[in-house]
Amino acid sequence: MCQEPVAEPPMTQPSPILSGLRLRCGACGKGKLFRSYLKLNDACPVCGRPMNNEDTADGPAFFVGFGVLVLTAPFIFIVPMMSMPAAAKVVAFAVLCAVVIGLILALLPVAKAILLNLQLHHGAEEASFERGEDD
Ligand SMILES: [Zn+2]
Repeated sequence: MCQEPVAEPPMTQPSPILSGLRLRCGACGKGKLFRSYLKLNDACPVCGRPMNNEDTADGPAFFVGFGVLVLTAPFIFIVPMMSMPAAAKVVAFAVLCAVVIGLILALLPVAKAILLNLQLHHGAEEASFERGEDD
């Protein structure tokens, strides 16, 4: 017995993660999110979705800083234990610092774009408390 494949509904919104990886709007997947390094456009240049009230706070900095720390922290302990001249260790630490700063600067816009698109996709908003009738 053969069943016919069920047609899936067409995707109306692009994946918030994939569009964030490309630094694109989570609603249309085409418009650029940023007008400069971390400054958001006021609205999507393609679909017009407003972005001037969106705020990811320090979430991207936390995730990027923590991730880069986890990736690079072992080298902070490995480099001093290696048998090499002190000058080479200084150079190795300088290279390690450059790698850490480079990774953070490269990943920060991507993390901000992904978090912003996820917030918009899931309708995240400020917490508010409504008073009940017995108050
Ligand atoms: Zn858009």
